[in-house]
Parts: sequence; structure tokens; C-alpha cells
Amino acid sequence: QVVVVGSCMTDLVSCTTRLPKPGETVIGHKFFIGFGGKGANQCVQAARLGAKTSMICEVGKDSFGNEYIENFKRNEISTEFVGQTEDAATGAASIIVNSEGENVIVIVPGANLLVDSEDLKRAADVICKAKVIVCQLEITPATSLEALKMAHASGVKTLFNPAPAQADLHPQFYTLSDIFCCNETEAEILTGLPVGNPEDAGKVGSLLLERGCKLVIVTLGAEGCVMISKEDPIPKHVAAGKVKAMDTTGAGDSFVGALAFYLAYYPNLSMEEMIRKSNFIASVSVQAPGTQSSYPYRKDLPRDLF
Ligand code: ADP
Repeated sequence: QVVVVGSCMTDLVSCTTRLPKPGETVIGHKFFIGFGGKGANQCVQAARLGAKTSMICEVGKDSFGNEYIENFKRNEISTEFVGQTEDAATGAASIIVNSEGENVIVIVPGANLLVDSEDLKRAADVICKAKVIVCQLEITPATSLEALKMAHASGVKTLFNPAPAQADLHPQFYTLSDIFCCNETEAEILTGLPVGNPEDAGKVGSLLLERGCKLVIVTLGAEGCVMISKEDPIPKHVAAGKVKAMDTTGAGDSFVGALAFYLAYYPNLSMEEMIRKSNFIASVSVQAPGTQSSYPYRKDLPRDLF
């Protein structure tokens, strides 16, 4: 199965024609509350494609936390390792989306920062028996690193998404990543090099590869992705299909969740094919509003993806 160790956030989303400047108030035309957090998003996308999934996370003992647990259940995600703490509120993200589908986001991690070694110990059995483990940086990085170590030691495939980006990422994140998957911004922060096109992505990809991961994927929004691996150190551009983007919030998480599904359930596909299929799934997600609300279900997708 797919195990995700990561964050849950309640998204408070406001839609405006344009994003406000500092000090400015703009009037929005729509508000909604959604389920987000990179870890949970990735887990939900993998589950909707048909993966058996477990989420290892912490929410608050509050209404947002209760609702989040119900959300996991509706998505058929195991909540055995979802902790509910009195010491912090459920993580929250305030998101503003403009009419071009661009966004700005403020995150208050809350309970997410309380995911710790104890949570991992409780879940040791599922972590070590998983096909794929997925980690990000919205919980305490030391906890993500420990989870990756546990999985790696048991031969579980590790998929690491260094998001949100950190300039001084612990070097072991690279050596413990079978697949290191970042977007343009994260790649820029990690390497200090600009990423504006597939050629740049190939360059930063090869730099990240030298830090010890087996395979690097840099996602490029509408341009799809660039992949580069130890086995094939020539960067390969895997283009995404042309679609009309409506809301790109959470596209990267849809991509990572889909990739985790393919790694776990179709391990014999080539990486290029897995990326092509994951691009397709993420491109479906940008055509609908919201984060998890835009993630497609297996039953609604073309049969040749499975
Ligand atoms: P993030 O959400 O982390 O910023 P990206 O914007 O790079 O990530 O998007 C992740 C993936 O989502 C891309 O690799 C691509 O597969 C898909 N995607 C994102 N935006 C578009 C778009 N406008 N058209 C088609 N696919 C898209």
C-alpha cells in the first residue's frame, strides 16, 4: 500500500479577480472551505485512483480536525494512524485565487508540527510493509527524515516532495530519496539557479541528482515535467497535454499522489510512462476549482490509464 506521512490543512479559499498588494483590500466574489495540506492531498489523490492508503498525521481536537477525519474516511483512507491532539489546532491555509487561476497561500501548521517519532513508532509496521512511502516538508523535517529512514531501511520505495522549499535541506533527504520530486520554485530555492524552461530544469535536476537521489523530477506546470536519473543522466522532458487551467492549486500534489499510485501498483511501467500518466491526472485537476475537490476518481478517468 501507499503510506503518506505528512500534513492536513483546512483550506480557507477566497476567489478574487486579482491578488491584493500589501496593505490593500480587494473584494472577492466567492469563499469556500476545503480540505488541503500537501500530505493529505497526495494521499487523497492516490486513494481516488484505487490505492490502499494510510495517512500518518496529526489534527486538532476541534471541528476542523473531526471533519478532516471524516474526509479521510469518505476517501477510503485508513485513519488508524491519524492522531488528534489537544495541544494545537488543526493546520489551516488561507488561500487567495485570482481569475487566472494563480494563487497566494499563508499556512499555519498547528497540529502538523506535532507529528513525531511516537507517531512513526506506532505505525512502524505499515511503514515497513508499504510499497511506497511519501513525505513532504509541511511537518517537522526531522520527522519526515526519520520516516524516510525507516522506510529506506526496509526497502520501501521513497518518494520525497521537498515542499514547501527549504534552502538548507538536510543532505540525507537526497540520499534517502528514490524519487525526489519538486516544482520550479522548490528547485530554484534548493539550487539557487533559475528555472524557467525544461532546459533549466534539466540543469537543476542534474545538480540535485549529484546530491545523492536516484531520480529527480522537476514539475513545470503547463510544461509537464523533466526527469533525470542515475541510470539515465540525460534529462528527459515529459510534456503535459494542453488544457484550459481554471485553478492550479494542488496540481503538484495531484501529480505526486498519482505517481505514488503508479509506483505502488504498476511498478513495471517505465518511469517516463508513469510520469506521462501522472501529468494527465494532474492536468485534469487544474480544470476544476479547489484542491482535493478537483482531484479525479478512477471511475472518471480513461481506462488506458490503468
Ligand atoms: P505545483 O502545484 O507544485 O506548483 P506544478 O505547477 O509544476 O506544481 O504542476 C504539477 C503538475 O500538474 C505538472 O507537472 C503538470 O502535470 C500538471 N499541471 C499544472 N498546471 C498545468 C496546466 N496549466 N496544464 C496542464 N497540466 C498542468
